[in-house]
Amino acid sequence: MKSLLAVLALTVLAPAQTPTTPERRVAITIDDGPVVNELKDLANFQRISAGLIASLQAEKVPATIFINERQLNVQGQRDGRAAVLAQWLDAGYDLGNHTYSHPSLNKVPLTEFEDNIVRGEVIMRPLIEERGRQLVWFRYPFLDSGMSAEVHQAVLDFLRARHYRVAPVTVDYKDYIFAGAYSRKLRAGDPETAEKIKQAYLEYVDAGFASAEKISRDLLGYELPQILLIHCSELNSVTLRDSIARMRKRGYSFVSLDEAMNDPAYQRPDTFTGPGGSWLEHLGDAMGKPVEDDMESGIPKWITTRPPR
Ligand SMILES: [Zn+2]
Repeated sequence: MKSLLAVLALTVLAPAQTPTTPERRVAITIDDGPVVNELKDLANFQRISAGLIASLQAEKVPATIFINERQLNVQGQRDGRAAVLAQWLDAGYDLGNHTYSHPSLNKVPLTEFEDNIVRGEVIMRPLIEERGRQLVWFRYPFLDSGMSAEVHQAVLDFLRARHYRVAPVTVDYKDYIFAGAYSRKLRAGDPETAEKIKQAYLEYVDAGFASAEKISRDLLGYELPQILLIHCSELNSVTLRDSIARMRKRGYSFVSLDEAMNDPAYQRPDTFTGPGGSWLEHLGDAMGKPVEDDMESGIPKWITTRPPR
């Protein structure tokens, strides 16, 4: 009787999924918001931002957007640009601090970096708090978290005192390389090549996830909830829905950053110093099993080669 009940329970509880589709989770994070490298044209800035928001809304997918407030500081456009932050918040998305002007902690003095953190929340913090929400997340520009243990810990203490949590990255398929090439081709009046770059980029989404999944299994014995890093670019404003479709096809469901980080693996102490790199690479180093998540060298050369100026 007992075993029959057990069988019944298994039958009832077993998820209705084909065995080849693993259950996977990912939190999407989008850096250099509201829009990267769009410091002149307000209409372009609004169009790209609206494309990102509409894509996420259509897919009903949560996301955290990391803001550089320098991109709001354009004379004559400050109100129009700040309004975009309110749009993100009112659409239900979380905003995080990515510093004011995107300096590398590995290259600027500690006090300058801390100043840049404080300047990075001047507009965003009141917008978040007047909606009864909290500013929680911080992400290091270039993922550079200090070259020495002292500097690393000093910034962690500084962030903790301001109630920030550091957002790691596990999936990074170098979208900005495709995005730069895409926008250059569009502006050069070459939409055919831009379209080819777009297709190559979408192919690369799978390569990026496959790499992180494998490293995760090799180091942890399971796939932890992944944290994807992409950027607030023109390319993503027109491809995000297709990227999300590819993730769904790999078995992903979409969770908040907070939910992803509930996985015990993310509770490990954060002691990594050195140049950038993904959280999985840092984990490999900490475990004495170095791994390389080299997504840069796999990008086709015709995309990475910049035209001579
Ligand atoms: Zn960034």
